[in-house]
Amino acid sequence: MNNIHHFNDLLDDKDILSLADDKAPFLQDWRGNYSGDAEAVLFPRSTAQVSAIMRRANEQGLTIVPQGGNTGLVGGGIPDTSGKAFVLSLSRMNKVRSFSEANRSMVVESGCILQELHKLAEEHDLYFPLNLAAKGSCTIGGNLATNAGGVNVVRYGNTRDLCLGIEVVMADGRVMDLLTPLRKDNTGYDLKQLFIGSEGTLGIITAASMKLFSLPKARATALAGIPNIATGVELLGKLQAASGEQVEAFEIMPDTLLNVIFKQFPEIPRPLDPIPEFMILMEIASSDEKDGREDETGRVPIIETLEGFLAEAFEAEMISDATLARNETQRQQLWDIREHAPESTKRESNPVNTDISVTRADLQTFYDSAVAEVRKVCPVTRVCSYGHLGDGNLHFNLIEKEGGDPDWLDKKEPLKAAIYRALASLNGSISAEHGIGVMKFEQLKQVKDPVALSLMSNIKHLLDPKGILNPGKVID
Ligand SMILES: Cc1cc2nc3c(=O)[nH]c(=O)nc-3n(C[C@H](O)[C@H](O)[C@H](O)COP(=O)(O)OP(=O)(O)OC[C@H]3O[C@@H](n4cnc5c(N)ncnc54)[C@H](O)[C@@H]3O)c2cc1C
Repeated sequence: MNNIHHFNDLLDDKDILSLADDKAPFLQDWRGNYSGDAEAVLFPRSTAQVSAIMRRANEQGLTIVPQGGNTGLVGGGIPDTSGKAFVLSLSRMNKVRSFSEANRSMVVESGCILQELHKLAEEHDLYFPLNLAAKGSCTIGGNLATNAGGVNVVRYGNTRDLCLGIEVVMADGRVMDLLTPLRKDNTGYDLKQLFIGSEGTLGIITAASMKLFSLPKARATALAGIPNIATGVELLGKLQAASGEQVEAFEIMPDTLLNVIFKQFPEIPRPLDPIPEFMILMEIASSDEKDGREDETGRVPIIETLEGFLAEAFEAEMISDATLARNETQRQQLWDIREHAPESTKRESNPVNTDISVTRADLQTFYDSAVAEVRKVCPVTRVCSYGHLGDGNLHFNLIEKEGGDPDWLDKKEPLKAAIYRALASLNGSISAEHGIGVMKFEQLKQVKDPVALSLMSNIKHLLDPKGILNPGKVID
């Protein structure tokens, strides 16, 4: 039976999409791994409307799948194929409610696009440091719901660490106002943390109060060739100390990945030739303008710091080659390489994707053991393991051999299992930053502590007893 009439009196006609072509972009994920169906896509414009929708959905037992920018990589924002669910897109709730330079915080609605928040902060000479390649499409609500990581975690932490408060609409329509921008508030349990990272299964985040930082005024960015991951980890520790904890990003990319990026995007310049076994993209940043200003001899202090560091690393034979960005255009060219990693592997193949984390100290061991396990299954697969070395987080992805592998699709699951075998022995995480969604729904049950799983299930039941919020994701 059609249920759309339950929402017709709550939203304008233009805020309900029910035609197949209109709904289509909201029913498939970015990688094309997950697709589903929904009776309609709903676009509330206020917390009151979200509340009314949830109250009605709860009364009628209708499934609601929250969605932000639909850039999630684990199928969390995609409904099942029954066609009975309603996608609740927060994308039209994108107002800035308040901005405080004095408190260094902003209160924004959950549909605000991350990149827009970067611009907003910069207009006030401040900085919102959450940064990921999907920044032009992902929303702050989605970032909170997935506790997104990205490239600046090594200095500023995950989205969770950047959040002061949230406003949440519960499954039964009640609004919980935890939007306080207070920096200290020990009045009982920190309930916002339950909803951050809950992937739309416990409540709808409608607004958030986020921290701001000093705007970096000087940056130094370099790409360096290293022989192995362990050297990268050692370099990071040294750079963190040498720069006074100014390391904002420390990303690793192997030669296999770089070859794919340069093949798929030939317009991107190759900064190091020949391509070393691994490359580190490192960036340090300072909010002190003087660090970026040329002195009378033409030297720029922050560039000097990184240049000196690289020279010492070269002397110590830790790096084989390096290039340093001398201006913003060159910096962007280096970042372009890293930011094209997800798209280029997607174009090249139908990759095996993972998002693992181990301690930084265990990264090399994990890598060696995962490569060995993978080779037992398929000796010719290409290992494109890249990611946020500073956070012990690798997207240990695999693509088929050059020219294609006719049995590739059959090999994908055994290859994934091989990677997770290596991870299990190191007590690593199966999801460092992308979440569980549908992709890791079954796997979570096998790896999570049983007491924790049972508590998660109790919490889900308490907050959403009818199971109307994003069923089939994260936890039963
Ligand atoms: C090219 C590319 C690069 C990426 N790089 C990174 C990276 O470096 N680090 C990283 O962590 N992720 C990365 N991602 C994944 C993705 O961008 C993040 O997970 C992002 O936080 C999702 O935001 P979104 O608005 O697109 O959410 P969606 O994809 O729309 O939703 C994600 C999940 O959150 C839920 N949800 C969304 N909005 C709300 C809300 N307001 N209230 C409650 N639940 C909600 C959904 O139901 C779903 O379960 C990348 C993705 C792409 C495509």
